[in-house]
Amino acid sequence: MANGSEGNGYAMQAESQPAPLDASKLKVTLSETLKPMPPLDDLAFGKHMSDHMMVSTYHPVTGWTDPEIKPYGPFVLDPVCSCFQYSTNLFEGMKAYIGPDGKARLFRPDMNMTRMRRSRDRVALPSFDTDELLKIIKKLVQIERRWFPNAPDHTLYVRPTIIGTRPSLGVAASDHALLYVVCGPTGPFFRVSRMLSLMAVSEHVRSWPGGTGGYKLAGNYAPTFMPQAEAAKRGYDQVLWLIGDKITEAGAMNFFIVLKRDDDDLDVYTPPDDGTILPGVTRDSVIRLLQAHGTSTTIEGIPQTVHVEERPVTLSEVAQWSADGRLLEVFTVGTAVIVASVGRIGVEGKDDIELPKHDIQMGPVARAIHKKMTNIQWGREEFEGWSVACE
Ligand SMILES: *Cc1c(COP(=O)(O)O)cnc(C)c1O
Repeated sequence: MANGSEGNGYAMQAESQPAPLDASKLKVTLSETLKPMPPLDDLAFGKHMSDHMMVSTYHPVTGWTDPEIKPYGPFVLDPVCSCFQYSTNLFEGMKAYIGPDGKARLFRPDMNMTRMRRSRDRVALPSFDTDELLKIIKKLVQIERRWFPNAPDHTLYVRPTIIGTRPSLGVAASDHALLYVVCGPTGPFFRVSRMLSLMAVSEHVRSWPGGTGGYKLAGNYAPTFMPQAEAAKRGYDQVLWLIGDKITEAGAMNFFIVLKRDDDDLDVYTPPDDGTILPGVTRDSVIRLLQAHGTSTTIEGIPQTVHVEERPVTLSEVAQWSADGRLLEVFTVGTAVIVASVGRIGVEGKDDIELPKHDIQMGPVARAIHKKMTNIQWGREEFEGWSVACE
């Protein structure tokens, strides 16, 4: 404090600490009227939300309110709240699956919680114990059991979110926050029965060295919508994001490329986690599965030995590998899609890089990884404790 208030003869006030987020204080208020279930063919990603949500708010003096699971509904917020003006918003995306034993499961939720802490700290939002949040998420998932669609490749998508609610236009960190979790049933992300087409764009960048592209901050996404609309107008599904010639990501998915080696082994490359890509849970899982392939596990459908490497990949290299006949597959990964094969890359919407054609929707490596990942996610196969039951 100013003016030497230390040791001025006054006893320090016994400070009461702001309350921590505490899952044991969870209050559950169930909805009296349940929503009708949407038909399976209407489950576009994020279109329908379940009956309940979890909410806890943070005040700088009193701390986190007792978390509450209550009927899904709107918030009332001050128009100058930090989130509306300065984008103090961040989120996570995870899926819950019903296993053969009837238990709901989350896939590597600890990784989502770690990433949420990093995002939160990057925009200086109030802290909380993410282990407590995870306990609450598991409870919400159990309460929303009737929302798990009973169909292959359908899951419950879970969206933990924090927004800064400091009610002031002062340009400063938000010392008020609202933490909430919503969820909803979701079908396969891309319903197209063909491979993805990507338009490589260098004029607009999604991320840059020292920037925030490596965090799941809401502010990273709005600036991608105009280039995405541009790509769609030219007939491409997603933008392939570059920094100069260097590939970072595709849409909001991580990028992988498969090459044939002279000894008939496979090289699999993915751009390194250098702060310019979002460190995806799916990306990490694919890397680890490929590393374990042939030793601690087998990915059925990949007979070759695989050498996986996190290394920069440039668009010119991709074009060269294609010309040399070494390029076998390009695929993208993320929680929503799991794995999607790429059939076409347009450079700034003009020349296409030739990618090998497969008569099916996925290349063999992408298909094999997709199968392996979904087996682990649904709890049909155990791998390193990745699939975590909600109980
Ligand atoms: C969420 C996200 C991903 C994928 O991350 P997962 O944890 O695998 O879902 C990739 N890129 C961006 C930009 C993302 O927002």
